[in-house]
Amino acid sequence: MYNFLRISGIINESIVDGPGIRLVVFAQGCKHNCLECHNPETHSLEGGYLISIDEIVERVRKNPLLQGVTFSGGDPFEQAHIFGILAKLVKEMGLDVVTYTGYLYEKILDEIEHKKDWDMLLKHSDIIVDGKYDKTKKKSDLKFIGSANQRIIDVKKTFETNKIVEVKFRAI
Ligand code: SF4
Repeated sequence: MYNFLRISGIINESIVDGPGIRLVVFAQGCKHNCLECHNPETHSLEGGYLISIDEIVERVRKNPLLQGVTFSGGDPFEQAHIFGILAKLVKEMGLDVVTYTGYLYEKILDEIEHKKDWDMLLKHSDIIVDGKYDKTKKKSDLKFIGSANQRIIDVKKTFETNKIVEVKFRAI
């Protein structure tokens, strides 16, 4: 439905889903089936509930403490059109956007040739956290990621340098 996102939940303030204080939108729908995924209830493409973009924007506007908005999942790229629109609005409010996805960054680059909605979500994300959760690569000192194979990618610098530029955060 136009102007609505299908989500599994929303958190008004988080400090564990990217830098600073962030509103987090958990997309409903994921095709990756990572072993021992912590959020299996987010996999069904028909589950969760609908929420309007306007309601999310209003929540963001009401909180001056926010540094940005994080799209987690599920996988936001399964609803790239509507998350891309929301990302653009968040950027216009002067906040940053972190997008988590089970897809690899290279796969997203391949797809944006013919998927304009993927292109929009990618280009309006400051950071992409990519890759499936791999329980064999789980470590205790990782910040903002679940397993060591996942990358925290600076999208702007990656486009500028034409090679993947990762941002490293260490758990305190
Ligand atoms: S990408 Fe995330 S939500 Fe999807 S199966 Fe993997 S860990 Fe679970």
